[in-house]
Amino acid sequence: MLHQGTCPKCGKRVLHVQVETVVGMVENESKARCLSYNCIHCHTVLGVQIDPRGKRRPKRTTDKDEAAPAKK
Ligand SMILES: [Zn+2]
Repeated sequence: MLHQGTCPKCGKRVLHVQVETVVGMVENESKARCLSYNCIHCHTVLGVQIDPRGKRRPKRTTDKDEAAPAKK
């Protein structure tokens, strides 16, 4: 299988990504732990998503204001 994804900045193939944990901010409040995927060559952020393993602070117990749970 060929890797065809290339970094939009440096144009190198994205065979590896650097994963960093970042905090998702909503109106200046930290809301969720997120993952940032960076090009290992030039550190351009290729994408960010909410960390599915992220531990929520036990502030709220409802899941409703988080990302929709993947129910089948
Ligand atoms: Zn790059």
